Amino acid sequence: MIVSSAFAGKRYAILGLARSGMAVLESLHASGAELLAWDNREELRDSVADKALVADPLESDLTGYDAIVVSPGVPLNNHPIAQKAEADGVPIVGDIELFSQARSSLPPHRVVGITGTNGKSTTTALIHHILESAGVPALMGGNIGVPILSQPPMPEGGVYVLELSSYQIDLTHSLDCDVALLLNISPDHLDRYDGFDAYAASKARLFDMLTPEHTAIFAGDDEKTRMALHGLRDLGHVQDIVDTSATEIAGQADWPSLQGPHNLQNTIAAIAVVEALGISEAQWRPALESFSGLAHRMERVAESNGVLFVNDSKATNPASTGPALGAYPKIHWILGGLPKSDTLAECEPFYKNVVHAYTIGEAGPLFGTLLTDHMPVESSEMILTAVQRAAANAKPGEVVLLSPACASFDQFRDFEARGDCFRSAVNSVIENGLIGTATGEAG
Ligand code: ADP
Repeated sequence: MIVSSAFAGKRYAILGLARSGMAVLESLHASGAELLAWDNREELRDSVADKALVADPLESDLTGYDAIVVSPGVPLNNHPIAQKAEADGVPIVGDIELFSQARSSLPPHRVVGITGTNGKSTTTALIHHILESAGVPALMGGNIGVPILSQPPMPEGGVYVLELSSYQIDLTHSLDCDVALLLNISPDHLDRYDGFDAYAASKARLFDMLTPEHTAIFAGDDEKTRMALHGLRDLGHVQDIVDTSATEIAGQADWPSLQGPHNLQNTIAAIAVVEALGISEAQWRPALESFSGLAHRMERVAESNGVLFVNDSKATNPASTGPALGAYPKIHWILGGLPKSDTLAECEPFYKNVVHAYTIGEAGPLFGTLLTDHMPVESSEMILTAVQRAAANAKPGEVVLLSPACASFDQFRDFEARGDCFRSAVNSVIENGLIGTATGEAG
């Protein structure tokens, strides 16, 4: 765990004792801080009673506290803790801000910060993989993996690779990344922000925290990413600004877990990051080939009778599904769930790659209407039915792709449960020899 003299003798209130909150509590306690902690769940409160005063921060006088630490899941836009913090004059922070404050007591290291609407986890994991393959000690933290404060500090020369959601950036005030990357910005999480501009501004704050000699990298050519790039150029304080949106690179066919135009964007961005850290092409190129990808993101689940099954359950909005459809020429596309918008605009340029679509969940009727003029589409409602129908229709060389363009909560606990359901449906059609059984009937 990360322990720092920066916290010794200070006072913190911790709201939310799930994974990152618990890591915060352990780290601050071991660092000699005085703590007040709270969670709605009694068993979590009880479990920390020997390390913190258990009390609801909303009902406590927090005047004089050094910070209120909240988890990124707390909606600051409408949670009363925001007013409480203001009334008591205490800053609200998250675990990434505490990590930032602890940096001066860690062995010399570098920090990479990655944000964007889509592709953060994939790019974070890829950067981490390239660094490790090149023999550089590296650790993933933030939105991905284990909470950063619960991990052992890196030895000298190590790199902390942090995936940062906009919620986490909102709770961070002093993180001066050595390299900061903005992948892309498209509408998402609008329930937590006062419009798209406010969401985009939240992501752009990562760059306001950079000191002049550090590197800012922009990968997307969407309007908001361009605006953030121009804004940073206009401010003029960061000297090294890299725009990778028009960069080209050969060899994608050799990287099985980095297929699709979106993964090309992620790969080019990751290369810019590791080159800024001093990694050469001779070091990064072999790592692209050996990268095994992440579960639920363009994950190659199985191949049988020449049909490839790909799980992209993490694609929860049309902007992330569009490029997934760009990854293969003949796709049986399973989509649907809880829709985030009433169009599939970002997917339209790739309709030519779809052989047949199968809708599931609440979005089924809407998507059926949107797609029917462009491709054969049928309402499957459930993933198992969709996989059975798609597998039966698929011919050798074709791909059955779950890339839902929707949230999962209408039928599943989360996107992982949805992806797991797809995987077991795939296994069952393979075991039962159901692939290609409808060949000739497919539209
Ligand atoms: P995040 O952590 O930002 O949610 P992931 O790497 O988990 O990103 O990918 C989420 C989904 O977005 C994946 O299912 C993938 O299809 C899609 N995706 C990945 N990279 C990009 C990108 N650069 N642009 C658009 N969509 C992407």
